[in-house]
Amino acid sequence: MNDNLFDIIIIGAGPAGLTASIYARRASKEVLVLEALSYGGQIINTLDIENYPANPNISGFELATKMYQQAKNLGAIFKFEKAIEIIDNNGIKEVKTTKHSYFAKAVIIATGSENRKLGLDAEDKLIGRGISYCATCDGNFYKDKIVGVVGGGNTAIEDTLYLAKLVKKVYLIHRRDSFRADNATIKKLKENNNIEIIYNSIVTKLLYDKKLTGIEVTNKLDQSVKNIELDGLFVAVGRIPENQNFASLINLDENGYVIAKEDCHTNYPGIFVAGDNRTKELRQLVTATSDGAMAATEAVKYLNTL
Ligand code: NAP
Repeated sequence: MNDNLFDIIIIGAGPAGLTASIYARRASKEVLVLEALSYGGQIINTLDIENYPANPNISGFELATKMYQQAKNLGAIFKFEKAIEIIDNNGIKEVKTTKHSYFAKAVIIATGSENRKLGLDAEDKLIGRGISYCATCDGNFYKDKIVGVVGGGNTAIEDTLYLAKLVKKVYLIHRRDSFRADNATIKKLKENNNIEIIYNSIVTKLLYDKKLTGIEVTNKLDQSVKNIELDGLFVAVGRIPENQNFASLINLDENGYVIAKEDCHTNYPGIFVAGDNRTKELRQLVTATSDGAMAATEAVKYLNTL
């Protein structure tokens, strides 16, 4: 067990988890970071991050790589394994992954969130065949074609603006008549003449043969239905927190977020939470890194009381 014993295990290597690892290493704690996929989390697909202080126009990949290198240089250990459970054995937390078990007295859950789907028939089988959840990853496949974007938050608007530079036409389909995104971003929609906004409407059907050929859209106000021919549909309807694996120990709210205040404490002693997967007002890169700092500081305080 000793090789697998650490002071703090951090689950998730997005901005919250990476910042937590930097703070915990600077406090001289032995730190293991577990990550299911690759470091960086959600920002890895953002081409231009305009709102992270002192780093205007840095790409998400570059920023995440800098954070990852900083954590590694400070001595954090990284293992790319998916954490599937936390078990408490008299104060020692066992974090089970799909491959091994690791042990620590403190755990920080920084698992972020995953893409929400529309829940339509054939949505899964059309992924990579017309359905995408990442405009910056897949936009290039649709050069000079016609695409749709679903959603009304920052991601949907930013995806629309990004795609408008590449494709012939973008339909932006939103279920209400006002957007959730910030005003500065919304204003940019007017600067493009190849964006058509379809308000008060939901996608009710995916049309396809071997790949997506279009969508059926229903207007929520008058129930009218129309079909739109599309080469691709980018779904940007928010994200779902990835906390279910820890729900046996940790209290979640009705939407699946870990219930925690700004101190990042969960209901369970020695288990902390950082980033987009906790209850909070503002889910941004800067608040995720702030959580990482707070959760690591509180975890170190907790360890020092034992
Ligand atoms: P979001 O803000 O939660 O927006 C999701 C959008 O999808 C909402 O407009 C919502 O409609 C719509 N929606 C949800 N479920 C739907 C469904 N089943 N069918 C149709 N539409 C549906 O998600 P997000 O845009 O991914 O952003 C997440 C967080 O990251 C936000 O805090 C955002 O500000 C932040 N973010 C920031 C930046 C940046 O600062 N550069 C970039 C991207 C994201 P309603 O509005 O009607 O609820």
